[in-house]
Amino acid sequence: MQQIRHFINGEYVESSSGRRFDDINPANGERIAEVHEGGQREVDAAVAAARAALQGDWGSMPVEQRMALLHKVADGITARFDEFLEAECLDTGKPAALASHIDIPRGAANFKVFADLVKNVATESFVTDTPDGHGALNYAVRKPRGVIAVVAPWNLPLLLMTWKVGPALACGNTVVVKPSEETPHTAALLGEVMNQAGIPKGVYNVVHGFGPQSAGEYLTRHPHIDGITFTGETGTGRAIMQAASQSLLPLSFELGGKNSAVVFADADLDKAIEGTLRSAFANCGQVCLGTERVYVERPLFDAFVARLKQGAEQLRPGWWRDEGVSFGPLVSHAHRDKVLSYYETARRDGATVVTGGGVPEMPEALANGAWVQPTIWTGLPPHSAVLSDEIFGPCCHIQPFDDEDDVIEQVNDTPYGLACALWTENLARAHRVAPRIDVGLCWVNSWFLRDLRTPFGGSKQSGIGREGGVHGLEFYSELSNVCIKL
Ligand code: NAD
Repeated sequence: MQQIRHFINGEYVESSSGRRFDDINPANGERIAEVHEGGQREVDAAVAAARAALQGDWGSMPVEQRMALLHKVADGITARFDEFLEAECLDTGKPAALASHIDIPRGAANFKVFADLVKNVATESFVTDTPDGHGALNYAVRKPRGVIAVVAPWNLPLLLMTWKVGPALACGNTVVVKPSEETPHTAALLGEVMNQAGIPKGVYNVVHGFGPQSAGEYLTRHPHIDGITFTGETGTGRAIMQAASQSLLPLSFELGGKNSAVVFADADLDKAIEGTLRSAFANCGQVCLGTERVYVERPLFDAFVARLKQGAEQLRPGWWRDEGVSFGPLVSHAHRDKVLSYYETARRDGATVVTGGGVPEMPEALANGAWVQPTIWTGLPPHSAVLSDEIFGPCCHIQPFDDEDDVIEQVNDTPYGLACALWTENLARAHRVAPRIDVGLCWVNSWFLRDLRTPFGGSKQSGIGREGGVHGLEFYSELSNVCIKL
């Protein structure tokens, strides 16, 4: 059985406790690896290694050299593309067609983009008047924040982990990563790439384990880390915030969502259907930016429901590597239980099940997988938990609307504020409505169209802070002002 060990100070190490847990392929329920569970001792060792690297080679390395190494990391991921692809697809079950277009290329891009960006970023300076007329020169210096704890989720494991590690290292920090217990594979593999690229020991460390009373909690409570960047559920964010309050640590949080799509009657129906199919069902609905509430202006409602149903029924579930497969399983049986409980709630609350609502018939080899059907509902009452809770599965509810102000109010009626997609051919309407939606990311006539230079993050309970482009520098570096009296 393959062993997945911690990566600490440039070496793969076993857990001192001897504790292990299973890495399961959710497509067939088979055990694919044994993962070493980290405890306080591994976290201490990883944080100490990260601190030493910060004070050693990495901290004093010229920027050009650091950036060249990060380019090598990106090239190293690309050179081992097939290995990363297989590792990611076995951990998650997601189709190769998806991971080879999104997860793995973005995993590499996250190192290049932020290396190039940080290299070219300027800081401000001011010439200040003084009473003696000589003046003073102020300029800001950006320093690494220090040892950054990166706590990552399972839905886009390599992409979301490197989205933090890339800018953290580009800014000169060192990291300790706690990957999700569901998807430890690619974070472990990245250690080999780091070594091959020549990244100094201790710059990138990985400790595997769970959240509470395991590696996640020990890391986020650790007194010698300097910041926590976390992607995951809003409830977990609350626990981490409490842990961080001990040392008053800076936090960057990307949390849950209950995102909407709004389709106006003047939308291009083909585009709106294509975009909504992706936003509701891509990655089996396990995308934080995904759409679970769809509002369609009444004249288009029936046609939209019929076309979305048709599209959902054409999705082909199956083994990640097989030709034509467009739909994977959920990440685990535990998550499937949660999603199916909402399928049941929808039925109990009187929804019309347009399509899906259960578990698909799978061939024998995949019968033990965490499969669910892509599901569409209409007719849910406004109080239904299906319309307020983040389900994080391949499902959406479609509701007609008649009035622009009214639909904006409904979209905003949630504690979350991550993303929204507007579909309209009326430019004035797009400009009018987009700023009124309480979200960090609003797309018009698209979804998941990302430029890594732009700010990314959630409003309300969907996050704290913005990453992407220069915005992440607020978190990944510390600004110091130097004032020189002339
Ligand atoms: P999760 O919160 O269950 O777990 C995320 C990570 O936190 C895991 O590594 C887990 O082990 C760790 N963890 C759990 N409890 C912890 C604790 N008490 N202390 C420290 N670490 C702890 O999230 P998940 O189920 O892995 O991911 C799905 C969630 O992530 C969804 O809510 C989704 O919306 C959200 N998400 C948000 C974004 C975004 O950009 N806003 C992106 C992807 C996923």
